[in-house]
Amino acid sequence: MKADVVIVGAGIMGSTIAREFSKYEIDVAVVEKEADVAFGSPTKANTGIIHPGYDDQPGTVRAQHCSRGNALWHQIAREVAAPFEEVGTLVVAMKDEEVEVLEDLKRRGDTNGVPRLEIVDDEDKLRGMEPHLNREAVAALLAPTAAITSPYELAVAIMENAVQNGVKTCFETEVTGITVRQGEVKGIQTNRGEIEAQLVVNAAGLWADRISAMAGLNGFKIHPRKGEYHILDKKVGDLTRHVVFPTPSPISKGIVVTPTVEGNVLIGPNAQDIDDKQDMTTTHSGLAEVWAGACKLIPSIADKKSMIITSFCGLRPEPDTKDFVVGSSQIIKGFINAAGMRSPGLTAAPSVALRVVDLLMESGMELRRKVTFDSRRKPIDKPMKGSDLSSAQNLIKQNPDYGYVVCRCEHVTKGEILEAIRRGATTLDGVKFRTRAGMGRCQGGFCGPHVLKLMSEELVVPAESITKRGKGSRVLLGKAKELLRGGDLDD
Ligand SMILES: Cc1cc2nc3c(=O)[nH]c(=O)nc-3n(C[C@H](O)[C@H](O)[C@H](O)COP(=O)(O)OP(=O)(O)OC[C@H]3O[C@@H](n4cnc5c(N)ncnc54)[C@H](O)[C@@H]3O)c2cc1C
Repeated sequence: MKADVVIVGAGIMGSTIAREFSKYEIDVAVVEKEADVAFGSPTKANTGIIHPGYDDQPGTVRAQHCSRGNALWHQIAREVAAPFEEVGTLVVAMKDEEVEVLEDLKRRGDTNGVPRLEIVDDEDKLRGMEPHLNREAVAALLAPTAAITSPYELAVAIMENAVQNGVKTCFETEVTGITVRQGEVKGIQTNRGEIEAQLVVNAAGLWADRISAMAGLNGFKIHPRKGEYHILDKKVGDLTRHVVFPTPSPISKGIVVTPTVEGNVLIGPNAQDIDDKQDMTTTHSGLAEVWAGACKLIPSIADKKSMIITSFCGLRPEPDTKDFVVGSSQIIKGFINAAGMRSPGLTAAPSVALRVVDLLMESGMELRRKVTFDSRRKPIDKPMKGSDLSSAQNLIKQNPDYGYVVCRCEHVTKGEILEAIRRGATTLDGVKFRTRAGMGRCQGGFCGPHVLKLMSEELVVPAESITKRGKGSRVLLGKAKELLRGGDLDD
């Protein structure tokens, strides 16, 4: 295979870069070791906040890209029809001493160009804005431009739009080497063969240091910082209206209580430096810390433990440089890093992607605008969501599959699941990320087998070959009765 540019990684960074590149007449391939977009830990498991940009130290690469990224997402999320709500953030001071921290954050935000920041110190106004907020709160920094999104749905939507505009994706394809001759990139080696390319963009998240080392560059190291979460049922979705933060610590923005775009409440994350980039376990102590932090901000959470529907963790890719690593290598021509995307990497991604386009131009590659570029993506129809009954009825009339509910918790229909499969979902998590089937109270207990059967029929493969999230995650091991008759399981 041959491409002008290869992007390593289909997280939010690789996806936004791919979409920016798809505006030009170049051949772009995205290579991803997992089975789908957003299957890497940070993009699939984060808080989903499009930060306003007040907490990044002015002068850092993060500060350059965060507030610009926030502004860009307001437009791009609309273009690709991804979930996006401008709910605003409140950073809450519980003691008078903490008000100074708010003032400092506001100063930073003003320097970083964050619009409409305001310190609210009128307690009645604060209660009106956030009725369940701790009564001890004395003031809060309000950032109205902050938004919430569903990070994996956003990444999927962005990549779908990139593919619609000509980008090629190669999943379950692991980059094992970078081909460099006489100081110039010539392509990549993978577990499925070689791809020739004159330019490689390293957007490999937690593994970006390894990709860089494959090109002989050892300029930075990435270590994982774990963050754990609980999700609460939609029944208590009115516990918070804004994303509510405590005042930050030196290593973390703190444990937040936030609404999600689907109406749940998300609490977390804590911050724990670990060694293993594949450790996706939640811990008793970590989740206890998350619970305590959330109760401090919104005390009425304390008696809602039965409302927890699931818990999970994400790993932040923390670079030892402490800042994003964005730039062209001065040693190897044709190697560009979009790496070290620690928080707020989700927010910053579209701004970093524009910077990577500039780097491509600076590298001498000729970039002609593609006249056929279409910025709009049609979302999957969701007839059971929203209030437009007549268009839901029309859709069901045209295609009765949209009238057959498969996931009862999230009201996802057969039509949506089949459409997700047609759009590229090959695993149960791929369907879940595109439709939310399995994300409700029962966590797939009811709809899981139905989704699996639909996948097997639509993809025309045995049910036993369907996986949760790709290699090594088969759901069915064989037929129980055959086992009883003395048969063997495949693996
Ligand atoms: C707990 C937590 C909370 C966060 N909250 C927020 C937030 O609210 N707002 C915000 O803006 N940011 C937040 N972030 C940060 C944000 O999630 C990350 O900055 C962002 O997701 C990084 O995306 P990425 O594409 O660089 O990395 P990834 O998502 O890791 O994508 C990299 C991809 O590269 C692939 N890959 C790696 N090696 C190879 C290889 N050899 N061959 C092929 N493919 C490879 C991986 O499988 C992966 O899919 C949070 C992060 C965490 C963990």
